[in-house]
Amino acid sequence: MSDLLDSCRGLVLGAFDRTFASPETPEQPPRDKTFRLTHLRLEVRVDDDAKTVSGTAVHRLSPINDGLREITLDAADLTIRRITDDAGKVLEWETHGDALTVRLPRARKAGESFEVRIRYEAKPRIGLFFMGPDKGYPKRARIAWSQGEAMENRYWFPSYDYPNQRFTSEVIVTVADRYVALSNGRLVKETRDARRRTRTFHWLQDKPHSNYLVALAVGEFDSKEWTADGVPVQAYVPKGKGGFIDRCFRNTPEMVVAFGKILGFRYPWDKYAQVCVPDFTAGGMENTTLTILYEYCLTDEKAYWDYNPDDLLSHELAHMWFGDWVTTKSWGHIWLNESFATFCEYLWREHKYGADDALVAILDDRTQYFEEAETRYKRPIVTHKFVDASDMFDVHTYQKGGNVLHMLRFVLGPDLFRKAISHYLTKHGGQNVETNDLKVAIEEATGRNLDWFFDEWLYKAGHPELEVSWSWDDKAKQVLLKVKQTQEVKDPVPLFRMPVEIEIATDARVWRERVQLEKAEQVFHLDAPARPKAVMFDPDAVLLKKITFKKDKDELLWQLANAKSVAARMQAAEGLGTFLSDDRVVAALRKALTKDKFWGVRREAATALGEIRSAEAREVLLEGAKDKESRVRRGVYRALGKFREDDVAFKALAKAYMEDGWYYPMQTAALALAEARHPKAFETIVKGMDRPSQAEVVTRGACMALANLRDEKGIEVLKERTAYGRPELVRFASATALGKLGSFHEKRRDEIVEHLAALLRDTNYRARYGAVMGLEELGYTKGIAELEKTAERELIAHLRVAARLAIKAVREKHAEGAKKVEQQSELDKLKDENKELKSRVAALESRIETIAKRRK
Ligand SMILES: [Zn+2]
Repeated sequence: MSDLLDSCRGLVLGAFDRTFASPETPEQPPRDKTFRLTHLRLEVRVDDDAKTVSGTAVHRLSPINDGLREITLDAADLTIRRITDDAGKVLEWETHGDALTVRLPRARKAGESFEVRIRYEAKPRIGLFFMGPDKGYPKRARIAWSQGEAMENRYWFPSYDYPNQRFTSEVIVTVADRYVALSNGRLVKETRDARRRTRTFHWLQDKPHSNYLVALAVGEFDSKEWTADGVPVQAYVPKGKGGFIDRCFRNTPEMVVAFGKILGFRYPWDKYAQVCVPDFTAGGMENTTLTILYEYCLTDEKAYWDYNPDDLLSHELAHMWFGDWVTTKSWGHIWLNESFATFCEYLWREHKYGADDALVAILDDRTQYFEEAETRYKRPIVTHKFVDASDMFDVHTYQKGGNVLHMLRFVLGPDLFRKAISHYLTKHGGQNVETNDLKVAIEEATGRNLDWFFDEWLYKAGHPELEVSWSWDDKAKQVLLKVKQTQEVKDPVPLFRMPVEIEIATDARVWRERVQLEKAEQVFHLDAPARPKAVMFDPDAVLLKKITFKKDKDELLWQLANAKSVAARMQAAEGLGTFLSDDRVVAALRKALTKDKFWGVRREAATALGEIRSAEAREVLLEGAKDKESRVRRGVYRALGKFREDDVAFKALAKAYMEDGWYYPMQTAALALAEARHPKAFETIVKGMDRPSQAEVVTRGACMALANLRDEKGIEVLKERTAYGRPELVRFASATALGKLGSFHEKRRDEIVEHLAALLRDTNYRARYGAVMGLEELGYTKGIAELEKTAERELIAHLRVAARLAIKAVREKHAEGAKKVEQQSELDKLKDENKELKSRVAALESRIETIAKRRK
């Protein structure tokens, strides 16, 4: 599953409860089984007028042990009509909560196969969603779609709703004759009933899969089919949107073939279909052979490179191997699904756009992980202590896990890694797995024991925090590289052991060596013919770490201009951002911003110029604003936002916001306008905020910009945009921003709590999500009671999780004391003055340096 909505979370500081699950949280190991489920036959009628589903679910199963007298399935809100066995005998049953217990007329023996047929009706509130036009959204497509993960399929059919079983399935679904019904596997038969004006689709998934992967989508679609290595690849979008298919899905067939080669394991299913549906509650969901996606991946050219649907599409496709072909046995091991799918996003980027492009995605994920680690918690990636299965679908599972697999490949090397993964997929194909299965498969395939790696990266938490420095021993002709691990080593955070590459560059040559980190403090002696121009620690930025590596200006200048790896050039640019008022530095950054061939380095150079913030730096940034690559322009706009109340920067940003034309740069410009705090910023932002854009990124940026601007007038503007009838993503963003803006205006907080509380009861999931985020941002204890209701009663699990996290955050913020506008402005001013002083000190230092050099 994937949720690609970027949240705009505030930073929370202070020493508070940073645990993922309290000590009292019970362990949630895999569910015990009393029977093996071998086949599910679901024969249903879906009525989208009545929003109901009704029919029969037939389970074929066999006891694991002798003497089975009853079976327990999951059924939430279902009306059970009648239950019979294969002989047609009516069985007794009862329900307790979601548990449906069926009594068998006689004890069954181990391995004795039998059927249980359940006739039922449902008007599902979740699990199966009925979308269609209404007053507020007259153009919304009429499509019903399912979302089973984590455990929500039980809301539309009785099932064994836990991932540690696999069975084949048939979905036989009757719908109104204008609709198409899509499901897992292959279409066996399609029939029409002219009198009833219905169509019946008979789908068969003859390769076993787990319950949460059973799926259904019903509606009118535009579609297209390709073939990839003999596999039919299909795309379905709501009728009328067929024009988007080629741009969005053009790479999927190539992905199917490429993953087969890269993973050493061919695509294992009969077909691969992708279907876009309205108001989907995640980014995408990897049901076997039928990925369901939100519509926001249907983008035009003006968002393509900033958004790139490939990330979402490659993620969901990768799940056909990781998650679907091998499936986690329990939610505690969900990284085996999600970290792999995230890692495969990098693999696809590497294959299609090159390793440098992939690296930027890896680093972005790392930044998101650091944010969660610093503001929420650090937890082991594998853990059975959680409240809700949805707790596990966090940044640790996705972004950190993706990075961990990237490191695993580095540790094994690409050839052994591929060999190990191919073996893992072969050995465990069609099975449920746990983390140790992967470790053993690696050992079997490569002979390498990775207990230590699994221990520190999966069963323990945190990451290394390093202080690195080097010096030159001219007598010994050696580089002395000092590395200190400074993280607090306290359960569950270990001292880390990892191999790391060091790149040494002299005038004559450049080479790499590998060292082994393992102690709190280490000094490595590395031979070199002469004092190096630069010493680069982990030049490809493989290791997930925080690092301070103090270098002098000359080394950084050399590194920015000459280092081969883009990570080293990006780090050099970042380091140079601390040298203020220095012409050589600005000239070097100008060269990097205008000439470096990789856009990531150009963007980093822009960031550094924003830190320097001199008139010269500003001129260079204006040049950079002409870059053809939208991702570089975003960096430039962000940097221009650092020029507080500066007329020139304001003019450039206002122009960018209105005229750049590409959506994501315009979003960045909105946020930068707020950051720069120019007196005209408010009216400028409001003027352009309602322009349509892919996934409403322009409006969303403008909403958050208004919050950051702290002007009370923004409250009304934001409130209006939370209204029913506005696009759901605008409602999400404006509700979040409203909370944030309210946090600066004490007198308005009660009214904002009331406004957001009403949104918590909205029918739209993203409006409710925005309200939860808004109440978190507001940080006002009066909002807690409302959040508690959501944490208890909300049906969509990850909203319950968000509400629980929000309550925790509000309590922390309350303990710190409320923010005030005046205090914030004062703080800004102090920061600015501090920067000014630093800059003057730097100028003085550089003059003294020049004088000192003259004397030598
Ligand atoms: Zn996923």
